[in-house]
Parts: sequence; structure tokens; C-alpha cells
Amino acid sequence: MLRCKRCLLPYTHETIRCDSNGICSNCSNNDQKSKVDWQEKSKQLNLILENIRGKYDYDCIIPFSGGKDSTFTLLYAVKNLKLKPLVVSFDHGFYRKQLISNREKVLKKLGVDFLCFTPNWKLVQRLMLKSFLDKGDFCWHCHTGIFSYPLWIAIEKKIPLVLWGEPSSEYTSYYDYSEVEKVDETRFNRIINLGINAQDMSARLDFEFDLRDFKPYTFPPLEELNKLGLVSVPLGSYIPWDVKSQVKTIKEDLDWIGDTVEGVPPEYDYEKIECYMQGVRDYIKFLKRGYARTTHLTSIDIRNGRKDRTESLLLVDKYERKKPASLSLFLEYIGLEESEFMEVIEKHKILEEDQEVFLEIGPKPRDFESWVTHPRMNRLESLKIFSEWKKENS
Ligand SMILES: [Zn+2]
Repeated sequence: MLRCKRCLLPYTHETIRCDSNGICSNCSNNDQKSKVDWQEKSKQLNLILENIRGKYDYDCIIPFSGGKDSTFTLLYAVKNLKLKPLVVSFDHGFYRKQLISNREKVLKKLGVDFLCFTPNWKLVQRLMLKSFLDKGDFCWHCHTGIFSYPLWIAIEKKIPLVLWGEPSSEYTSYYDYSEVEKVDETRFNRIINLGINAQDMSARLDFEFDLRDFKPYTFPPLEELNKLGLVSVPLGSYIPWDVKSQVKTIKEDLDWIGDTVEGVPPEYDYEKIECYMQGVRDYIKFLKRGYARTTHLTSIDIRNGRKDRTESLLLVDKYERKKPASLSLFLEYIGLEESEFMEVIEKHKILEEDQEVFLEIGPKPRDFESWVTHPRMNRLESLKIFSEWKKENS
């Protein structure tokens, strides 16, 4: 497969561009990081904070999953920036045991207020199936909810700052380090919602659910955000983002504990430990685009001089070519058979060459047996939706 000459990102990676030397845009964007005047950036952040600190019930909202990035952002906001945050979680329904235990520990150690919202599971189930069928990506509910819900809380509680964690330039080339990445509606439509807003989604589900059920997934009206003067930015636009050292910090300061993730080498025990559908998400990416998370993680290490290409390729080979044990759970949640799942993948495939068939099932993570907690989707209902999709796409 055609890959960047420096890191391992292939041509099928979203937003990738390569220069005449075959170096990808993520690599060149990363080079920019060292040229950014971070002192100036930090001054800009302080200017924002001066106008906010102590003037409202809370200084900011920290959208929080309990994963490495939001945990570091919360720690930094409380300890370094001396802010009083309201910590807000949008529960996607698949939090893992270790994550929840980390979360409790972190919230207590830092002494912060916490709000957690869990949306209607019946709707979540339907959204997973529908966005998987239409876009080959079942995470619409999670990504739109995580993004929108904290903004609604900001409006409701009149909190003028939402502070996110990592900048998207760590992963994609939608934005580069020369700009402060505003976490706004443009970004929402570009990166988050797969081109489907909540109203469209409601129509795609035949208006079967009350439109009010879609509010947590809807980007709030701009007038309301402007009235509040809301600033919504990632901390990573103001301080240099270095995941490895940040993980070290949260492990030392907050006793944050990592976990294994399907398809990911154990040395990356900090990556995406918050969701037990992660293995399926990465597997789908592998089937569609020919690469998955180990490619991403080793690519970041290559760019930062921590790994070479050869050892990275070996890791990719060893960890990405496995079917996750969680696939069977996912299929039960959305009520499809594996052959139907593969039909959907075929429709959304970006990869040109034919992949081999991978039959070996990867090892079960240690908490796997606790992952079976949700009511299943009714098979007849799923079958009806699947058949309609098939008709529309034949
Ligand atoms: Zn590259």
C-alpha cells in the first residue's frame, strides 16, 4: 500500500496530501509545531481567561470522557490555569470499568463538580445502525453528542468557555498549527457529523423519534452562542500537545491507569481506553481503508523520533490484522449478521486493492465479560431497515 515516506499513513487516510518528496501533510504539519511561538499562544489564552475567571458560576466547561486528553486538560485547567470548571460527560453507552474507576479518582482528587448525561439507548441503537448503513461509521451519536451536549450546558448555565483537549491537527489535516482551531459549527460540519445534521438524521429514521430527542446531537443556534459570547477552543491550540509526556503526568499526579485496547499494542495502554466499541471502530477502518490505530500511533512516534519505520511496520502487521472479539457484541447491538455487516463495508470501501480475509479473532481484553450490558436490537426491525438500505443501494 502506498504510504507517506516518513510515517506510515497510507493514501486512503482522510484529508491526506503528499508533497513532491512523498511526505504527508500530517508530517509537515507536525514540523510546524516546533515553529509555533508557544509563549505568544499562552499569552492569548491568558487574555481570554482574564475576562472570564471568577465572573460566572463556573469559569469553563471541560468536556470529559475520562480518557487521556480530557483528563490532562482538566488537570491543566485546575492546576496550571487555576480555573473552576464544570466537568461534563456525554455517556456514549460503552464506558469501560477502568475508565470509570479512573474518572471517579480524578474527579475526587481534583475536587471538581461533575455532570454526566446518558441519552436514550433505543435512539442510540437506531442511530448506530443507520449511520453505519449510510456512512459506514456507527459513531455519529457519540461524536455529535460529545461535541454538542457541552455547548447546550454552556448556554443553559451561562458558562462562556468550553475548553477541549487535543487539536485535530494531531490526527488530520483539516486544520494546521498556524491557526487557533475554533471548535465551532464549521468544525462540527467538517469533522464531526459525517455531513448529516440532527434534522436529517431524524428524517432518515422516518421521524420515528420525537425531534426533542435529537437536541443533544444538535449544534446550538449561533445567536444563542453569540449572545453568550462563547469561546470554544482546544487547549492544544495554546500549549504544545505531547501525548506521551501528558500521559506520564496524569499517571503520576492522578494515579490514572491505562488499559488494553483491541488491535492496539499494549505499550499504547493510554489510547482510546474509554469505549469498548473501539476495537470494532478500528476494524471497520481497517476493512475500509486498509489501516487502523496502530498505524496512527506508530506514525506519531515516528514523527517525534521515538520509533523507526521497520519496527512500526512490524507492529502494524501484528496488531491490525485481527478481527476484534467485540464484533459479535456490536452485531447484536445493531441486529445484523456478519455477512450483512460485510455487505455494508463493501459499499463504503475506499481501498482499491482487495484485502485478504482475516479470520483470526484477537484476544479478549480483561474486562470483556463485563461488556454485555445492553438490550439487543430486535432482529426483525434491523432486518427491515437493512433490506430498505439494500434496495436503495442496489
Ligand atoms: Zn507522514
